[in-house]
Amino acid sequence: MVVSLSKAFFHALAASDTLKQLASTHGMRRRNSFARRFIAGEDVEEAIAAAAAVEASGMTQTLDYLGESGRTMAEADTATRTCLVMLDKIVRAGIGRNVSLKLTQLGLAVDRATCVDNLRRILDAGRLHDFFVRIDMEGSEYTDVTLDIFETMWQQGYRNAGVVLQSYLPRSIEDARRLNRLEARVRLVKGAYKEPRGVAYQSKAEVDAAFLDLMKLLIEEGTYPAIATHDPAMIDATRQHASERRLDAARYEFQMLYGIRRDLQASLARAGHGVRVYIPFGREWFAYFMRRLGERPANVGFVLRGLLRDR
Ligand SMILES: Cc1cc2nc3c(=O)[nH]c(=O)nc-3n(C[C@H](O)[C@H](O)[C@H](O)COP(=O)(O)OP(=O)(O)OC[C@H]3O[C@@H](n4cnc5c(N)ncnc54)[C@H](O)[C@@H]3O)c2cc1C
Repeated sequence: MVVSLSKAFFHALAASDTLKQLASTHGMRRRNSFARRFIAGEDVEEAIAAAAAVEASGMTQTLDYLGESGRTMAEADTATRTCLVMLDKIVRAGIGRNVSLKLTQLGLAVDRATCVDNLRRILDAGRLHDFFVRIDMEGSEYTDVTLDIFETMWQQGYRNAGVVLQSYLPRSIEDARRLNRLEARVRLVKGAYKEPRGVAYQSKAEVDAAFLDLMKLLIEEGTYPAIATHDPAMIDATRQHASERRLDAARYEFQMLYGIRRDLQASLARAGHGVRVYIPFGREWFAYFMRRLGERPANVGFVLRGLLRDR
């Protein structure tokens, strides 16, 4: 209840232009400005530097050029070109070749065919240089179409891509079975969007129980699943289930967000687990940032202190 209220509150705030203006002016201005806790920077060079530091500490990374809900074809084209430049810079920097993107960024909300063309441009370039491209999952209005596009690309032979399932959606268990049969790589998350009752579970207990069911299915039948959570209970259950099923730690990985539970990231890596850090960057960081606040209201105090300091 508290979680969904807080999510609703922050989703409403995220729609405020005044707040966006205020945050955008202050959030990234200095090296220690408050938004930098969760976002590596506004340009790809800063993200690459953060990725190199993550790798130096024994973890892997995926870079996410932030942006969603592109409203015009021109915006989608610009986002696609920026992703292609990012791939090129990652190759030149010599860091791990793994990126995450959102289909609305590539124009899904404007025109599906254009979005598919843009995705194909990125997958083709990625394939040339051995990239893995994770298609993030967005709000439930995009679940069907995102999975449909992913599965179409898979049938066309694009194996350098993976997708995301959200445990707050009851439908995910069926989706997981189908994706496991394809041998596609799935990232499991709880789900970050505000969804209505009837579409998504509303209580933490239900979301967590579904997460555990999905985790077990992916560990038993999946292909290199990514268990993406900061929740120690989910992580412990995953380790235990994998060990009971004698699944070697090299056959799955944990994923966490940049700046969140760095202590847990480090301790899992020290214990020999694969840990991939999701590193977001870009000028369009506000919506991502507000979702992180909504997950943990205690973060608000930290932001307010940052705002007062940076004024
Ligand atoms: C690598 C990665 C990729 C993701 N991709 C997607 C995606 O494609 N689509 C999607 O809908 N969602 C995505 N998410 C977000 C996810 O759905 C959750 O909203 C988010 O991970 C919080 O849930 P949790 O599993 O950490 O558990 P929770 O029960 O929310 O949190 C467990 C504990 O983690 C810590 N924690 C969690 N969030 C925060 C925070 N913001 N700040 C500080 N501490 C925190 C706290 O200690 C908390 O008690 C992704 C998450 C990760 C880690």
